[in-house]
Amino acid sequence: MAVALIVAAGRGERLGLEKPKALVALGGQPMLSWSVEALRSVRGVEQIVVALPADALDAAPEGTLPVAGGEARSESVRAALRASEAGDPVIVHDAARPLAPRELFERVLDELQQSGAAAVIAATPVSDTIKELDADGCTVRATLERSRLWAVQTPQVFRRAALEHALSEASAEVLRGATDDAWLIERLGGRVRVVDGGPRNMKITTPTDLRLAELLLGEQAR
Ligand code: C5P
Repeated sequence: MAVALIVAAGRGERLGLEKPKALVALGGQPMLSWSVEALRSVRGVEQIVVALPADALDAAPEGTLPVAGGEARSESVRAALRASEAGDPVIVHDAARPLAPRELFERVLDELQQSGAAAVIAATPVSDTIKELDADGCTVRATLERSRLWAVQTPQVFRRAALEHALSEASAEVLRGATDDAWLIERLGGRVRVVDGGPRNMKITTPTDLRLAELLLGEQAR
């Protein structure tokens, strides 16, 4: 049986609102509730742990296990994993991706089971050309080959032992530098596979993203 960890402890400063991002209203309910609802319908999920800011633990939806998150995203994942009783595989999902459908969670889980990889992640091919800049932040150093570039999303699913090992091996500095958890597996040589999560599985960062998500949810409801 699987356990789901939803990371919702970010402050969401780029959204420019008073509340933590995961608790901002979206389509008539807190953003976090969309992910909880989707995960409740995923077969085999026996527990949902939610990492929240320490002063917002009472905002956890009923039936979920709240835990105080850390300074960095992967620290929040580690806190949630420690709080979970058991459960293998482990699903990690950002509350900031409220549009992930049940079907996507099930596709990454199926791929984990069939592939034998240590982790399977949702991602989507980039449509923009990506350039790498020099340390000055404004001079182009290189243009990357677009056909091989994928933008990483969540859900990300892991064999429990692999994630526990990767998190225990990582120093505080490594955890702070990790913008996704699959990298913690990659750096130890573990095999990570990708499934296409599609462009609708967007991450909400800015007020424009929030507006776009409202429109997509409205369209889905019709
Ligand atoms: O900041 P960013 O949008 O990349 O955060 C991705 C997800 O990680 C969000 O759902 C956010 O709430 C969560 N997060 C967390 N703990 C942190 C930082 C981010 O749970 N310290």
